[in-house]
Amino acid sequence: MFRELRPDSIAVLYDKKCRASLSRYFDIVFDKRLARFKLLKTFFVDFQGMNNAEMWRAHNNLIEDFRDYLEEVDSGAKEPCEVTKSNLLGLKIELAKRVLERCAFCTRACSVNRLKGETKYCRCDASFPVSTMFDHYGEEPELVPSFTIFTLGCTMRCLHCQNWTISQWYESGALYEPEDVAKGVDVARVRGCRNLNMVGGDPTPYLYHWLRISNSIKENIATVWNSNSYYSHPSLRLLAEWADIYLLDFKYGNNDCAVRISDAPGYWEACTRNHLVAKEHGELIIRILVLPNHIECCFKPIVEWISKNLGRETRVNVMWQYSPHWRADEVPELRRRLNREEMEKSIHIAKEVGLENFIT
Ligand code: SF4
Repeated sequence: MFRELRPDSIAVLYDKKCRASLSRYFDIVFDKRLARFKLLKTFFVDFQGMNNAEMWRAHNNLIEDFRDYLEEVDSGAKEPCEVTKSNLLGLKIELAKRVLERCAFCTRACSVNRLKGETKYCRCDASFPVSTMFDHYGEEPELVPSFTIFTLGCTMRCLHCQNWTISQWYESGALYEPEDVAKGVDVARVRGCRNLNMVGGDPTPYLYHWLRISNSIKENIATVWNSNSYYSHPSLRLLAEWADIYLLDFKYGNNDCAVRISDAPGYWEACTRNHLVAKEHGELIIRILVLPNHIECCFKPIVEWISKNLGRETRVNVMWQYSPHWRADEVPELRRRLNREEMEKSIHIAKEVGLENFIT
């Protein structure tokens, strides 16, 4: 099935802890189960004539019914229904379009009408500008090869951003229609990619487009929501039972660091809420980029919270590859890479809080 693979991406198939925490994902990879977006298209809902509030109410109520349906299909108790013209994915798309008209995809809730070309913090309008899309071999072993699409713009302003040319619009990118992106995803799946990896910048400003892309994909492919975790409550609801994998950054252990380094007030509240809902409505991989001098203030409270609230078996990637990029020199402690002592300490703390399924 696969053209070429990293050795650890084969080995992970025999990793019981990883398989257990991402079991549905692996079944999609091997075509034993359907990606959520495929099933959403078979879940009938008639939302014609509903106003905004009615649509949200219907959506939120139906999410629970959809979960029951998904479990029945997964267990073999029920065959998936036929694709219907009016379905739950269509309802999500319609709701996302309305969010775009008064943008509240991320915690900032700028309220601009992006459909009319208005922009604010992230500078994203109604178009879908792509920096690159390619088969990524550098992600977590369970994701490789990962068909990864980098869109322009971001909802945060991390001064050490390694993708700063993308997140801060130093590139112009190329504009795509969702239907054309979907064709590329189909081809990528046929050549062996395990998933569609949505990233930027951050994928959040383009949730409407991602939903539309999934609506046009024909192949069965797992969706990976690869985000900084700063998305809003409406986005959280739209993502529920749509994303197969939530690949979420957990960047800071407190809001002071989040504001000082990433201009992200309320990060802790948004991030913890979004992780809890991700676990409830999909499967979760957490990325923690360990920052120099942020072991006690950030790394430690993060892993303590994960162990206590999400469980010791949670899949966590403890990332040591920090190096200063973009405007990192404006933050004195971020002017260097991690040292050996910090790396060892991060492992020690992760073990101490009981994490059993982490990689470095
Ligand atoms: S995605 Fe966030 S930053 Fe961008 S316009 Fe919407 S609310 Fe503002």
